[in-house]
Amino acid sequence: MIDSEKQKITGFLHLAGDFLGSGYRSEFQEQIPVNTAPAESAEQLQITETENPKEDQNQDAGVFHTPISEADSLELIASQVNDCRNCRLGSSRLNTAPGEGVLSPLVMVIGEGPGREEDEQGRPFVGRAGQLLDKMLSSINLSRNTNCFIANIVKCRPPNNRDPQPEETSACAHFLNRQIILLKPKFILVAGRIAAQTLLKTSEPIGKLRGRFKDFYLDNLKIPLIVTYHPAALLRYEEYKRPAWEDLKLLRLKIDESGDS
Ligand code: URA
Repeated sequence: MIDSEKQKITGFLHLAGDFLGSGYRSEFQEQIPVNTAPAESAEQLQITETENPKEDQNQDAGVFHTPISEADSLELIASQVNDCRNCRLGSSRLNTAPGEGVLSPLVMVIGEGPGREEDEQGRPFVGRAGQLLDKMLSSINLSRNTNCFIANIVKCRPPNNRDPQPEETSACAHFLNRQIILLKPKFILVAGRIAAQTLLKTSEPIGKLRGRFKDFYLDNLKIPLIVTYHPAALLRYEEYKRPAWEDLKLLRLKIDESGDS
């Protein structure tokens, strides 16, 4: 048996152990103490593929019709983001945070928008929530340094970390669309309500959106997407930690099943 096969089997056994037991992966646990919240409902813990593919395919929900030129590139997007003043966030930001990670990522993580530290550093998810996000990813063998790309719905910080407004998310949408089209991630992990509702064009609460895979359609791509709670929410609300871990385990299983790595 070759090393990569052994690694896959070990990872699978580790996750299977977690499914049967009640613990989180150790790295995740360090940051997120085991909670004593009551068991999740069957709906929230659903771990199978969508029950009714037709209903859940979300054919229109995730579709952005973004023309993309042959010459597009991540660098071009980053420089256009840098010059962008298409909404009011362009005048209050310190820096833009277009996104970072590897090309052709296994997973693209999509959050809401930069906070204070991200605005200061011009990088996504570098504050407390970002550090937790890194731990969460690492608990299922993902990292922005090796197999993920991290981006946000809006690339500039909303003042005082308020929710981005619809006109701001619309003004910024083409940047994210172009990033997705160029990167062609194998999977998308959406962090938080705002990002989930924006991408899926829905007002459903996050408790209903998380916990199962949906297909996200963009251009000629169809990408399996899963929503989970935002790491900032996990830092505030103990009861979200368990379901977030279930979402991560589900993502890992789906990756393993797909044979992508
Ligand atoms: N929260 C987000 O949604 N994105 C970031 O980049 C940082 C915090």
